[in-house]
Amino acid sequence: MNIPLSSYPRIVIIGGGFGGVSLAKKLSKKEVQVVLLDKNNYHTFQPLLYQVSTGGLEPDSIAYPLRKVLIGYDNFYFRLAEVTEVDPGHKKIKTDIGDLSYDYLVVATGSETNFFGNTEIEHHAMSMKSIPQSLNLRSLILENFEQALLTDDYHERDALMNFVIVGGGPTGVELAGALAEIKKGILPKDYPDLDTRRAQINIIQGGDCLLPGFSIQASKKAEDFLEELGVQVWKGVRVTGYDGKTVTTKTDLVFQSAAVIWAAGVKGASIKGLDAADVLAGGNRLKVNEFNQVIGYPEIFAIGDIACMATEDNPRGHPMVAQPAIQQGRLLGENMVKLLEHKPMKPFVYNDKGSMATIGRNKAVCDIKGYRFQGIFAWFVWMFVHLFFLIGFRNRMVVFINWVYNYIRFDREARLIIRPYKRDYSQFKD
Ligand SMILES: Cc1cc2nc3c(=O)[nH]c(=O)nc-3n(C[C@H](O)[C@H](O)[C@H](O)COP(=O)(O)OP(=O)(O)OC[C@H]3O[C@@H](n4cnc5c(N)ncnc54)[C@H](O)[C@@H]3O)c2cc1C
Repeated sequence: MNIPLSSYPRIVIIGGGFGGVSLAKKLSKKEVQVVLLDKNNYHTFQPLLYQVSTGGLEPDSIAYPLRKVLIGYDNFYFRLAEVTEVDPGHKKIKTDIGDLSYDYLVVATGSETNFFGNTEIEHHAMSMKSIPQSLNLRSLILENFEQALLTDDYHERDALMNFVIVGGGPTGVELAGALAEIKKGILPKDYPDLDTRRAQINIIQGGDCLLPGFSIQASKKAEDFLEELGVQVWKGVRVTGYDGKTVTTKTDLVFQSAAVIWAAGVKGASIKGLDAADVLAGGNRLKVNEFNQVIGYPEIFAIGDIACMATEDNPRGHPMVAQPAIQQGRLLGENMVKLLEHKPMKPFVYNDKGSMATIGRNKAVCDIKGYRFQGIFAWFVWMFVHLFFLIGFRNRMVVFINWVYNYIRFDREARLIIRPYKRDYSQFKD
């Protein structure tokens, strides 16, 4: 990998997400050598992926070059590499560009979509966990409408315009709201020769409320907002299969759809060598102690989505959202310095700043530190917070200008099929 040997201890960080970047920033100007590895050369701001999928933002505006994060830091190295295995016995990792030894290893690999072992759904449904996947979804949405124009078959056309989102958490709710706005504001203008009123947006939630983990008011209001926008909300319905054409559920409900988006769960992105049953908690996450040390491996730490720190308040680990990752990354930066100076480390205590989700124009729900509010004020708070946490001045400006433009013009100009998504439409022909 061409990383020079150093007299400083080498800390290898796997993953330049919220956790990895927060940690790297904290380690700047410290007496350590830091090697950051990521399979992408950019950081992804996942909370805005749904806006890329729905043509509201260009992908570049929610990505940030990881090399730029490290500019000006001494003893920092970035390598574009996918880590394939950890060998704790030899304090070494294996990657697609070679092996590397470490003194301390930090696993910050985040999470991946969880299909709960259903390979049929995994094969046919769309995920939205990365920029390439969001671009695939954007292409599929637009291609389905182009295809709908070409058919005389009434059922085929309806299936092409029928969107099914599985999962009623923030990702599903935000995507459903954005699709509903496209249906209302953009499709009739773009496709005047298609009866786009027949387009349907369905959101299916296995549990009995949307936005589990939010307050009852937020959950109820989100449902009201979605219904106002014409989204069909199905609660208490479990999806059992999708063969690329028909969505089956545990009830009698079936849906014919050419676009099923799976937003029903995530699991830790574990790595070979650190995937034995004794280190993995539920959801494929690594069991860590209060200092984010992986149980049984004092030189290996895990932060963010991949880490499961069971506490009294969060017995199944902290929520898999950005704040625990950022806070754990920052504290671990301080703790690693303490560890190297043989001082006691500080245990992690999660500062839950609240939850928020937007459903569309002027519509959002916020539960922040005991304050619960919904509607236009919540929407402004949601926008402000997301702009604040985006990395990079340019990205903030571009996103802000896009939002203002979209708001004034009722538009989403990034509805482009740049990378066609190859879907087999033949099964809709019968
Ligand atoms: C669609 C969507 C919407 C979301 N909305 C919100 C929201 O509104 N608010 C909120 O707080 N959270 C939201 N989240 C969750 C939030 O994005 C995650 O909790 C957060 O990104 C976790 O940070 P992390 O550092 O643990 O992992 P990530 O940010 O996922 O970073 C992991 C990094 O590791 C890299 N990586 C993974 N495996 C390897 C490997 N083997 N080798 C090399 N590199 C690897 C990846 O490329 C990635 O850069 C959303 C997530 C999604 C998918």
